[in-house]
Amino acid sequence: MVCLYYQEEMPLPSSNINFLTVDVEDWFHTTALEQYVGFNQWDHLESRVETNVHKMLEILRVKQTRATFFVLGWVAERFPALVKEISAHGHEVACHGYRHRLISDLSRPQFKEYLERSKKILEDLTGKSILGYRATSFSIVKDTLWALDFIKESGFVYDSSIFPIRHDIYGIRDFPRFPFVHANGLIEIPPPTFHILGRNLPIAGGGYFRLYPYWLTKIGIISMNRAGFPATIYLHPWELDPDCPKIRQADWRTRLRQYVNLGRTMTRLEKLLKDFSFAPIQEHLHSLPLIEAKLKVKNHHS
Ligand SMILES: [Zn+2]
Repeated sequence: MVCLYYQEEMPLPSSNINFLTVDVEDWFHTTALEQYVGFNQWDHLESRVETNVHKMLEILRVKQTRATFFVLGWVAERFPALVKEISAHGHEVACHGYRHRLISDLSRPQFKEYLERSKKILEDLTGKSILGYRATSFSIVKDTLWALDFIKESGFVYDSSIFPIRHDIYGIRDFPRFPFVHANGLIEIPPPTFHILGRNLPIAGGGYFRLYPYWLTKIGIISMNRAGFPATIYLHPWELDPDCPKIRQADWRTRLRQYVNLGRTMTRLEKLLKDFSFAPIQEHLHSLPLIEAKLKVKNHHS
């Protein structure tokens, strides 16, 4: 049920667990900056991922919250101690692919190679099975649903790559808003949306988390929890870094996506951690409320 009113002192559903997820990548890895920063430049740019992940680990330590970190294979190769540190703090390490390419830009063999390579790097570093995968920029869309079988065959248990919204880069707008199981057995855990006026509004992650007023995020999470489901929030380490290097020639849309309200993320994150309870996804996989999905895309495993 959609909750159409909001009060500051609105009682919070206390029993629901939500998922806080962090996509571990550097400021220059984003899809928004891809046209300005080539892969061959990555090794020559100022890396800030270590410092920013440390900021994230510290606030989570203070707030006694554990999260799921989807780590990019490229980052794990260069900062192996960072991956071990995330794991040692009790967080779940999951996989964000190897090179931060949209799935639509990869051939099937390339996708499989990057997927397996990044999973192996993370498993070697943590000594644990890596259960979860999140594609670059939620790039499992109608044309790339074939990726789900590769993900399942590579040994992942869940995916968190399908945004049930309409968007210019990603999203399958008529996909379920809540966790469900694909025909091949892979569990899907969608990012959070607020269903209002017949549309799904993205509410609690990345640029949306920074751009929208906090009350909208809060009411959206409450609404998901009241429906009986966790909300899966997503953030990036570079979003805690208002001083990260800026690409001056970027167009307005890129600048909006990449830079808006970076100085406010930390305060909002603190409010979020005060208002809601979070846990690593893997700890709730077997007790996760799942919906019977009525997928409107036919034969997506063929
Ligand atoms: Zn990413």
